[in-house]
Amino acid sequence: MIEYVARSGPPEALNCPAFICDTCRKQVFGQGIVTWSTTIGHDGEPSPHRQTPIYVAHKGRCGRALEVWLEANYPRADGWIDLWDDLADFTRQLAHNLANAFADDLEGRYHQHRLVHPKETP
Ligand SMILES: [Zn+2]
Repeated sequence: MIEYVARSGPPEALNCPAFICDTCRKQVFGQGIVTWSTTIGHDGEPSPHRQTPIYVAHKGRCGRALEVWLEANYPRADGWIDLWDDLADFTRQLAHNLANAFADDLEGRYHQHRLVHPKETP
């Protein structure tokens, strides 16, 4: 998850936003992934679908453990599929969307989704 991490000085005490691995609880920097599960609308057509919160993990062992947790909490039998993206690509896209509204994208159609929180945390 993205979390604020308290830091003592110098030069001063700060709260630093950071990506924290949902598997090992250490900071993710450099090589990392974001992962989530979703149910996709039929035939790629815009339709309401379900989506989980976005989780963060180190690439490799932590990412695989998080994938197992996602599948246990959001089973394929209920229509869930898990997806992932490189943390660097995710961050670039997020920064772009901070300055560009979906409503101004005349070529795209954005799907509605309903956020589904897990019954337990990873
Ligand atoms: Zn980790």
